Amino acid sequence: LSAEVSDTVLRQAADFRDRALEDSDAYRLVERLAVEVGPRFAGTEGDRNAVAWAVETMRAIGFDTVRTQSVRVPRWERGTLEARVVTPYPQPLVALALGGSVGTPESGITAPVVRVETLADLEELPESDVAGRIVFIDSMTRRSRDATGYVETRPSRSQGPAAASRKGAVAAVVRSVGTSTSRLAHTGGTYFPKDVTPIPSAALSPADADMLATQVRTGETVQLHLKMSSRSLPDAVSANVVGEIRGTRAADEIVLLGAHLDSWDVGTGAVDDGTGVAIVLEAARLIISSRQRPERTIRVVLFANEEFGLTGARAYAEAAAAEEARHVLGMESDLGGGRVWRLDSGVGESGLDTVAVIAGLTASVGAPAGNNKASGGADLKYLREAGMPILAPRHDASRYFDVHHTIADTLDKVNAFELRQSVAVFLTAAWVAANTTTDFGRFPDARRETP
Ligand SMILES: [Zn+2]
Repeated sequence: LSAEVSDTVLRQAADFRDRALEDSDAYRLVERLAVEVGPRFAGTEGDRNAVAWAVETMRAIGFDTVRTQSVRVPRWERGTLEARVVTPYPQPLVALALGGSVGTPESGITAPVVRVETLADLEELPESDVAGRIVFIDSMTRRSRDATGYVETRPSRSQGPAAASRKGAVAAVVRSVGTSTSRLAHTGGTYFPKDVTPIPSAALSPADADMLATQVRTGETVQLHLKMSSRSLPDAVSANVVGEIRGTRAADEIVLLGAHLDSWDVGTGAVDDGTGVAIVLEAARLIISSRQRPERTIRVVLFANEEFGLTGARAYAEAAAAEEARHVLGMESDLGGGRVWRLDSGVGESGLDTVAVIAGLTASVGAPAGNNKASGGADLKYLREAGMPILAPRHDASRYFDVHHTIADTLDKVNAFELRQSVAVFLTAAWVAANTTTDFGRFPDARRETP
């Protein structure tokens, strides 16, 4: 299909694929990260421990170089939260503060609820219906293999509280953006632009959102009481951790494998994004231990602070723009460790043949060719805006959003067999991309949103 991938490289890639499927051990790495470090929210002691863990682990794996890149991160502290229905039928609510929320006064806030089903419905409400109230945004997240359900409802969390504040709301509660059936609330970042007053903001478990919606449907005035001590603190310093396997022929051409090192504070970040960290590290480990060297440089980047504002991704992209080295292709694993079911891309015309060659190799492990409309993970945002083409192995996300950003993001949710298949796909793709002269072109559409 393409003269740009030699028979030798095809054979090596197939060998790597088969070896990864049989005896890669990414699970051991997730286990170590989840057990030895655990929660690692940006700017915390856990985050600093994670950076030290990553440096030590990458050195032990045997990367040619391992370095950290300093990143400034915002600091936010969850504090305590108490939420309950006061009228008409008093009940406690299971909820988590959203990252970026402010606290309530010490005595809490009691106010009537106004319920909307979508962010668009909120935009249409007159201010008089919102002012002085607690806005309840009740958007239900659809279960989906490709994460489109999450992409649809994410703005209700990330932008909903600010929209409520603009209309004078005193607080916001959002149906968790997630698919938990276990009465778990899903946290996540919410953002208040500079001209908007931050208000206390929390996510309700889906079950509690159902119950609250039913109380609202009685037509009686529903009042909530919220008491929260969340607050922001001065910025802290964290780091991206970068390891390289230097290329033999074109060391200044980089094939990037990314994942994020930070996690939310509530779980142990085994799934988000411990699995991604383990997949990219294990792919690199298998290359290093084979004693074969790639022609292009394979660079693993463990990004700081994906969860609370992408500051690690921004710092990395700024430094990359000043580097002489060129990113020829980027991949990221940040959708849990589920099986990769398709290989999508976002490359220029000149890269399509080689992408097809890669998909030809991964099809036999269940990841056939997909479309060229992918945008890759959140941490690749600034790089793709600068033109870096993307290869996007799509993890099956059907169950990912059951535990995403919850206290249940723990090691027991990680499936060792599925991880091996993911490693096989990332490793195959990385080996071919790093051993071809293919110009993958530029990312076709900088405005594309990421799932
Ligand atoms: Zn993530």
